[in-house]
Amino acid sequence: MSIRPIYLDCHATTPVDERVLAAMIPYFTEHFGNPSSISHVYGWEAEAAVKQTRELLAAAINATPEEIVFTSGATEANNLAIKGVAEAYFQKGQHIITVATEHSAVLDPCHYLKSLGFDITILPVKKDGIIDLTKLKKAFSPETILVSVMAANNEIGVLQPLAEIGEICRESKIIFHTDAAQAIGKIPLDVQAMKIDLMSLTAHKVYGPKGIGALYVRRRNPRVQLAPQQHGGGHERGMRSGTLYTPQIVGFGKAVEIALAEQEAENQRLTELRQRLWEKLSQLSGIHLNGHPTQRLVGNLNISVEGVDGAALLLGLQPVMAVSSGSACSSATTAPSHVLTALGHPEQLAYASVRFGIGRFNTAEEIDTVAQQVISTVQSLQHSTAKSGK
Ligand SMILES: *Cc1c(COP(=O)(O)O)cnc(C)c1O
Repeated sequence: MSIRPIYLDCHATTPVDERVLAAMIPYFTEHFGNPSSISHVYGWEAEAAVKQTRELLAAAINATPEEIVFTSGATEANNLAIKGVAEAYFQKGQHIITVATEHSAVLDPCHYLKSLGFDITILPVKKDGIIDLTKLKKAFSPETILVSVMAANNEIGVLQPLAEIGEICRESKIIFHTDAAQAIGKIPLDVQAMKIDLMSLTAHKVYGPKGIGALYVRRRNPRVQLAPQQHGGGHERGMRSGTLYTPQIVGFGKAVEIALAEQEAENQRLTELRQRLWEKLSQLSGIHLNGHPTQRLVGNLNISVEGVDGAALLLGLQPVMAVSSGSACSSATTAPSHVLTALGHPEQLAYASVRFGIGRFNTAEEIDTVAQQVISTVQSLQHSTAKSGK
């Protein structure tokens, strides 16, 4: 087998942890029942497994099990939250507020609603990627029905002040949704303390399987109404029809259980690895750290290098490491990412950016190899740019 590049793209996805896979396997074959089958043991076993994950996820975010709606991932959860609220509350108001640095799975449903006649405000962020709470408050109108602000950014790792946002929204009786796809298992999340009404989750960013996620939907103080976006057998209390994918749900639960148990030690280890990488890279001339220096996911490092072409840089790094520039979902294009553009960087700076997503299976030796390759690639590109006088 050829040597594969070092995987440092954990914001795009993560490998399934072996312990997660082991928990899932019996639910493909032995315990294959439909959790909705109430008349035999096959159904009961599957239902018991689903119930266990539902309880675990609820406990992880301080919710109740009835408030967890399983979906195919965070994209679907975001669509259900945003379009579901828009459809259920349009008679109350038709104004929705979100932020320029959100994932496309939030921005695109908002753009779609705009095409239907909804009024959408897209708030800017400060240079460090964090939203300005006074601007948020100023954007409120009697028509505002929903505020959607992500917990942790998928490109620059920046953490938004959820509790402050929740407080402001609750005061004005506006529903608060957060896309926590990058946050679950990595930072503390508490829907009561943070006054969150809707929260999107996914398994595959925390060493769980792809194709499974959930939406937390607040049931009391206040009860949030949602118009279902997928109709059928009335699963998930009518909010999301479709036979539950038991093996994926079991894997989701196991992944979150492991992440929570190891969160403190792992965050410490990742902080050290990120610091190790940044200490080496920060010696390069023209290097910038994108996003807030400390209010960010510990495994995230996002850099821009002045005067270096982003595509050439990635090409030089590719044999040694799997990283991405901009967001993975649109990395086929060379346009600067909408997130870096929102930070107010000049275009060229936005071009030469690299996102490092350090994760559970990375080692200090790997970080050293990566740092060395980045330094030599950047230096040779800077050297050739200087020679050609550009
Ligand atoms: C990955 C990601 C999504 C999409 O999640 P899927 O489960 O892949 O649909 C949405 N939002 C953020 C912030 C993400 O990082």
